[in-house]
Amino acid sequence: MREKIVILKKSREIPVKRRHPWVFSGAISKVVGDPGYGDVVLVLSYKKEELGYGWYSPRSQIRVRMLSFGMIDKKIDEEFFFKRLHRAYSYRKDMDPLINSNAYRIVNSEGDFLPGLIIDYYNGYIVCQFLSCGAEKIKDIVLSYLIKEINPYGIYERSDVDVRLKEGLNPVSRTLSGEIPDKIEIQEKDVKFYVDIKKGHKTGFYLDQRENRYFLGKISYNKNILNCFCYTGGFGLHALKNRSKKVINIDTSIDSLKILRENMLLNNIEKSRYEIKRQNVFASLKEYIEAKESFDVVILDPPKFVKQTSDLKDGILGYKKLNKRALKILKSGGYLITFSCSGLVDLLQFKKIIMECALDCGRDISILKEMCAGVDHPYPPALKYGKYLKGLAIKVE
Ligand code: SAH
Repeated sequence: MREKIVILKKSREIPVKRRHPWVFSGAISKVVGDPGYGDVVLVLSYKKEELGYGWYSPRSQIRVRMLSFGMIDKKIDEEFFFKRLHRAYSYRKDMDPLINSNAYRIVNSEGDFLPGLIIDYYNGYIVCQFLSCGAEKIKDIVLSYLIKEINPYGIYERSDVDVRLKEGLNPVSRTLSGEIPDKIEIQEKDVKFYVDIKKGHKTGFYLDQRENRYFLGKISYNKNILNCFCYTGGFGLHALKNRSKKVINIDTSIDSLKILRENMLLNNIEKSRYEIKRQNVFASLKEYIEAKESFDVVILDPPKFVKQTSDLKDGILGYKKLNKRALKILKSGGYLITFSCSGLVDLLQFKKIIMECALDCGRDISILKEMCAGVDHPYPPALKYGKYLKGLAIKVE
């Protein structure tokens, strides 16, 4: 069979040589062999140097996603993908002492050199997302690897995300193998959670925040905590299990709060030690300011405010409004644990936002810790927005 080839424009090979995993449509001068959705293509520079292999995506702006750089891998076949999957899985086993949970990410897309493929493990069950044409094309290989190596009770596909449309793929959510219960019980250290992998956010749980939840647990003793954007109780339960005094949990999602309530029972937390509020966090914070109520710790883990460059201005205003309100209700000596999962706002910019909030509120702050996603979420250094999750633990005077 004739090889399918993508030839780049002059000097557009530089990012690929520097291991950037994406080739944009504008960087391509010629396509040879009529590659289709998810076909493997050989990428050549203008001078016909062989740069490596990638997955072709005819509809997407990201036209090629690199699978292998240089020409170390001669063949991109089933065995190649088995090795890639195995490499990712073995690495998570090495990370086990840090992960300390039976729920973690097995494959993180470009960070595991499998662009567009997400595989999450939840205590014997597996959830996959196939977000690129290439990932979609290796679905059977992925399934046979997972069944052979891990043999889970069930595998579920949560490809019900809009990014699939950019690839020319329809969103889907369905069982791929075995049986999937409505809720799965997982454990992070000694904290238990129910996870709804069919309908929950992302693949069911915010696995990326695990290590930050562990951090919060360690500073929670005897504290009054406000857990904003609580979802199913992640941060709050780690605090309560570590003997915090009381946690108030706020979220707008009825379904998430229903699971949170079940999670409180699952962990035998006395009713007097927590409150659950279905409310907009912005409004709750305003009410606490007006009522002059204050807390030892405030957690802010909002959804992504900046989805595209045009959201940047409003998104930054949103982060400012939120963090200023939180700073106003923190006790002297208290802690603000604040996050942004907007890839377009980097850590430096996020620090600047928080610094300006503190100046505006007349509060002196110091940064105790910078936070990011856990060790099961690797990302390539060349991908600017790979480090989407960033957080700061701040001491407020
Ligand atoms: N900290 C959580 C994850 C938070 S995800 C964990 O560790 O599991 C963000 C949450 O914010 C979602 O549950 C979503 O329902 C909620 N949310 C989004 N906008 C909100 C708003 N304005 N007020 C309250 N909750 C909101």
